[in-house]
Amino acid sequence: MIVIANWKMNKNKTEVNLFMNEFSNKLNQIETLSLNKKNILFSPSFPFLSELQSSYSDKFSFVAQNCSHHKYGAYTGEVSVDMIKSININYVMIGHSERRIYFGESSEILIKKINLCLDNDITPIVCFGESIEERKSNNHLDAIKNQLNIVPLNNQNKLILAYEPIWSIGTGLVPSVNEIKEVHSFVKSFINAPILYGGSLNNKNCDEIFNIHEVDGGLVGGASLEPDSFISIITKANEIFKNSIKDVD
Ligand code: PEP
Repeated sequence: MIVIANWKMNKNKTEVNLFMNEFSNKLNQIETLSLNKKNILFSPSFPFLSELQSSYSDKFSFVAQNCSHHKYGAYTGEVSVDMIKSININYVMIGHSERRIYFGESSEILIKKINLCLDNDITPIVCFGESIEERKSNNHLDAIKNQLNIVPLNNQNKLILAYEPIWSIGTGLVPSVNEIKEVHSFVKSFINAPILYGGSLNNKNCDEIFNIHEVDGGLVGGASLEPDSFISIITKANEIFKNSIKDVD
């Protein structure tokens, strides 16, 4: 069971530090917690990754929100996988729909990013999910199969996937249990990797979603920005993890 906080482009240094202090103090008070750094991951913006990794690597893991598809060189503003690895970060999010839509990241670019991560022993967290039009026209499974062509099947055991329906991200709309089950079972029929659910996941709906057998954790955006709200999600994940056979990772 893995739960990732995706902070996107939110929080400055003061806000990051305030959050981490409050979150880790409150988490320390939960005696029954069996989740650890393999299970609780944070994805802050680049400027804070190195410091957070140095201060909290015994408690949590950290995820870069992006990486360059180039190895190194004259690409102003880009951050390479090698740089990310050199500060001991072992996860990079790849293909979030916001990157595909706002930054035009194509399958060709995403394949390069995934391969660079794998070459550097970094776990790519590959996001996928259908648009509202694809869902309404019942073409969601075909669209998903297409998007997942970027996954190298010879390295499928080195990846984490995240099902994030585009229409659910930041909208408060969440697929039904059966809809999530359908997609996760479908993807598990051809890729052997843990699959997280993401899209308007919060402390009210996470219980039901984490209890779906095919869901291996969550990717949380908006509801990870406040310590109390993220702690309730972690607490639910912890209860479900303890009472089920879902593995730690
Ligand atoms: C996300 O964009 O990764 C996400 C899950 O966002 P939200 O939880 O805010 O829908």
